[in-house]
Amino acid sequence: MNAKYEAVIGLEVHSQIKTDTKVFCNCSTDFHSQPNTNICPVCTGQPGVLPVLNKKAVELLVRTGLALECRINKKSVFARKQYFYPDLPKNYQISQYDLPFAEHGKLNISVDGGVKTIGITRIHLEEDAGKLVHDIGMKKLDYSLADYNRTGIPLMEIVSEPDMRTPQDAAAYLTALKSLIEYLETSDCNMEEGKFRCDANVSIRPVGQKEFGTKAELKNMNTISGVEEALVYEIQRQIEVVENGGKIVQETRTWDPDEKVTKSMRSKENAHDYRYFPDPDLVPVILDDDFINKIKKDIPELPEKRKQRLISECGLSQYDANVIISDKALADYYETALETASKQSDNSGKQIANWITTELLGKLNSAKLTIKESPVKAENLGTLVALIIKGTISGKIAKMVFEDMFNDGKDPDTVVKEKGLVQISDEGAIVAICKEAVAESPKIVEEYKAGKERAIGAIVGLVMKKSKGKANPQMVNKILIDLLKQ
Ligand code: ADP
Ligand code: ZN
Ligand code: MG
Repeated sequence: MNAKYEAVIGLEVHSQIKTDTKVFCNCSTDFHSQPNTNICPVCTGQPGVLPVLNKKAVELLVRTGLALECRINKKSVFARKQYFYPDLPKNYQISQYDLPFAEHGKLNISVDGGVKTIGITRIHLEEDAGKLVHDIGMKKLDYSLADYNRTGIPLMEIVSEPDMRTPQDAAAYLTALKSLIEYLETSDCNMEEGKFRCDANVSIRPVGQKEFGTKAELKNMNTISGVEEALVYEIQRQIEVVENGGKIVQETRTWDPDEKVTKSMRSKENAHDYRYFPDPDLVPVILDDDFINKIKKDIPELPEKRKQRLISECGLSQYDANVIISDKALADYYETALETASKQSDNSGKQIANWITTELLGKLNSAKLTIKESPVKAENLGTLVALIIKGTISGKIAKMVFEDMFNDGKDPDTVVKEKGLVQISDEGAIVAICKEAVAESPKIVEEYKAGKERAIGAIVGLVMKKSKGKANPQMVNKILIDLLKQ
């Protein structure tokens, strides 16, 4: 980025609240249902119906708000946001305007080895719109179909302060927010299913200037890396406009992930006037302390706290702890593995983290599997590491065992037994192999005796080869040195 300019970024995240039924009716929120099977007069906007608020949706939003250190408003109001679109059968969306459920929170993010605090402006509750379908399978339609299954599904819109300065900040914020929500289990955050969506607002200003520049709002990014890419492009575009003597206009732009550019959708002049007003069908919601405190008491250990605990109790580095807590399922996996290993050996915390971040995640990635789908169960990874620590198998053999565990889902004890991989720690047996190796390496022995101590490595290698990697390496070293002294 041009060093003369600085970017200012604020994000609006829509996260689908994890309820079984919609926010103002009893229709199912199931994602996989046939089109237009989860609908009723309320969510399709028939005349004469009345919305009834789903209490669970409010609870889950408040839970999220508390975890983001927001103030929970005792009185909240629903507002109608008017606009016409074929996926919005009522011609207005029930949302919140000046009195949302939660306001003034914050979230810490880790960037460049440091921590930044990003302000949360507000979290409001709103209903989702339907979906327009433009193609079936690979076939593009020359008309559009409307699926109203999604209308009325509860969303929490989490609006950040314009506190981010780089695309990396934005990615770190989304990662931290998604992870927090997953810990809270208030949304599935499945981005492919549109359950965690982000609009990014971005402007630039000369470094040192206090006032914000005019912002563009970017839409249509459905991965965190997509948001980052779109921001990198858009910041550069704005800088070029300004450098060429142009002016940034306030507009909504869409990210084209194939061409990797942002394109103008509509400018401020064409912006909607939503004519917000309080929804007369819904009374203001009054939340009392009991309701809020009960939710507060129920909040589990959150990622930041878990990270500190893993660092202090399990001896993990900042980096490993960050990787492990980023996904609740991964952190649970780690702790299950550790619990199993701890029953069989000591000090396995670091090694288990190593195995996860290097071997396991690499393999899961190539196989396009999530941690929950891992063929290696957490208990089995714990046992594998315990086998290494106890000296039953060497680290090298463990990698072979791990291969089999990953490919066949077997437990390490079985693989070790089946393949006869138990490490040789019997002194007599190792001495015999070492003597053989020494006898076969007269030249190296000569070099060693002439003072080139490093030469011993070649003999160690030969012993390991002869023992098919099973000789205990510490013992091999010691025995060889003894033999060569004679
Ligand atoms: P609007 O009224 O256009 O929706 P808001 O003030 O509600 O704008 O802000 C929407 C989002 O845009 C928020 O996340 C906010 O942090 C961010 N934002 C506001 N002003 C700027 C700016 N000048 N540059 C970048 N982001 C901004
Ligand atoms: Zn319904
Ligand atoms: Mg706004």
